[in-house]
This record gives sequence, C-alpha cells and structure tokens, in this order.
Amino acid sequence: MRILVTGGAGYIGSHTVRQLLARGHQVWVYDNLSYGHRGAVPAECLVVGDLNEAHKLDHLLLSERIEACVHFAASTYVGESVRDPAKYYQNNLTNALTLLECLRKQGVGRFVFSSTAATFGVPEKMPITEETPQQPINPYGRSKLTLEYVLADYAAAYQWGFAALRYFNASGAAADGSIGEDHDPETHLIPLVIQAAVGQRPHIEVFGTDYPTPDGTCVRDYIHVDDLGSAHVLALEKLQPGQGLRFNLGIGRGYSVREVIRTVEEVTGKKVPVKEGPRRPGDPPELIASSAKIQRELGWQPQYTDLKRIVESAWNWHKSHPRGYADRPKSNA
Ligand code: UDP
Repeated sequence: MRILVTGGAGYIGSHTVRQLLARGHQVWVYDNLSYGHRGAVPAECLVVGDLNEAHKLDHLLLSERIEACVHFAASTYVGESVRDPAKYYQNNLTNALTLLECLRKQGVGRFVFSSTAATFGVPEKMPITEETPQQPINPYGRSKLTLEYVLADYAAAYQWGFAALRYFNASGAAADGSIGEDHDPETHLIPLVIQAAVGQRPHIEVFGTDYPTPDGTCVRDYIHVDDLGSAHVLALEKLQPGQGLRFNLGIGRGYSVREVIRTVEEVTGKKVPVKEGPRRPGDPPELIASSAKIQRELGWQPQYTDLKRIVESAWNWHKSHPRGYADRPKSNA
C-alpha cells in the first residue's frame, strides 16, 4: 500500500514506519518536526509539513496516490493539556479534521489512529477491556476520544475503515539501538530513571508512595514500541470499508514505579538515586490493559512480555545515544 504516516518521525511513528517498510509498503512520513526527529526516518520518506496545511496535504495525497493513512501526529502531554486545552483541541482535533477532509476529498478511507489509555480515565475494574466505559479526565484524553467518535461517524456515513488503537505505556527502543525515545521535555518514567542512573539527572522523583497498590506506587502496563508497531501493521492490513476496530494495547501485566526503578538498576548495574514526592495530579493508581481482543481478532502477539527486556532495549538505545538524536550528525538529527 501507499501509506501516509503523519507524525511518523516521532517515537511510536518511527518504529512503525520501519515495520511498514519491512512489509514492503511505500511510506510518506508527514511531520512538522516539532516533536519528531529527522534522524528517526529514512530521508527519502520525509515530507516536512503541518497538518493545517491543507493544500500541501491535498497535493501529496493526489500526486503520490496515497491509499491509507496512519495518524500519529498529536500533542501528548497530559499536564500541558490541562494548562493549555486550546492547543490540544487545535492540534488533536481541528488539525486532525483538516487531515480527514483532505483524505475524504481524495477518496482515502483507510485510517489507523493513535488513541490512548487516557480515554478511559480512572476505571474501577482492571484489566481495562474494550467494554470499559471511556471517561477521560483531561483535555488530552477528551481530544483523542472525540476523534474516535468522529471516525465512527465517518465509517458509518462514508464507509471508512478505521482502527483506534489505545496505547498503554509505550516504552523501549528498536532492538538494534538505532532509533528510540527522545522527548523534549522527557516526562516518561523509563528514560527518566535511566537518566538518573547515569547521572544525567540528580535523582528520580517517585510521584506518590501512598497509592492503594502492593508497594504504594503507581502501577502501569508497559508495552514495547515495536509491539505497538506490529499492531498498526496488522490493523492497517486487515481493515475493511465501513469497519471500526477498537483495540487496547498493553501486555496485560502491571509494574509499579519501584519495580521499574529496580529493573533499571538490575539492567544498568547502577544505583538509581530516588526521592519520594507527592502524587502527580490526575494519575490513576493502576492501569492495566486487556489485549485479548486484538490477540483474538488479528492474531497480534507482543514479543516483549517482561519489563526487563523492554528496559534492556531502552538502555541499549541510551548507551549509543546518551543525548538522543542530538548524538546524530547535524544534518541527520
Ligand atoms: N512517574 C514518576 N516519576 C516521574 C515520572 C513518572 O513516579 O518522574 C510515574 C507516574 O506517576 C506514573 C508512571 O511513573 O505512575 C508512568 O508515568 P509516565 O509519565 O511514564 O506515563 P503515564 O502513565 O503518565 O502515561
């Protein structure tokens, strides 16, 4: 297929692009490089552009005869979304609607969407299945859930086939250590703990030690970024017109913040300086996915089923790129 991947130079996008290329698809990465990295994708795939540039998108879709779209481009910081909801509704909704309309004009109705566990809010029952009510508690989650509704309406009215993939905690890096996680600012636990282990940060702050969990710290379901990538490929290839697929993506097992810190110590052989702090507002105590539905319906299987291997891959990337993509030659960063 000839596939447009918006946000394809970002963390999950770049790992998915590799897999799409390996499957023989043709890929155009459309990215404004605000969060993404030039060095994360093959130069010949990259088109630098913004989702609000409808003419540029129209031209690209028409001239390259695009047949499908995988849509990653979005703003993804929960805390920022609370402080600046306008940015999140603009980027994640208004700009996404511009993209949808460009696709619709060109008759492209095959669409895979990066959704999120944040659409579920704070569910009472674990694990979180596709039947769990979606009740997001912040603008980020609400912006993503609204696009899920929009896609359902497009599927019903215009025969689009779409998949909404709700990621739990994306983590790890490509097995060969050549691409990985590099956010600015970095807010994700595993890279922050690694940075504390090597002295790039004075310590890791544990956000809350009084949760109703076995060791008092938050429990999350960490899923390897390549396993997310394979889910996108499967969903994209299976989609039928008029069909709306919704899948939760995790490994079905939770790890606490303290377990993550212990695992990083084990993998790196370094002591991590820890400071215990207050809870971060809006953090649910526990988020664990059931991915039984995508396993059953698409035959998806995560290759990374324990935290140690996930952390090993993140450590591999960190060792070869201690400052992320800044460690690449300038023209490639
Ligand atoms: N966390 C922490 N200290 C940090 C960053 C994160 O204790 O400096 C905790 C956070 O409260 C959550 C877990 O680590 O329980 C994973 O957080 P992350 O931001 O990586 O992902 P989220 O679950 O928020 O999507």
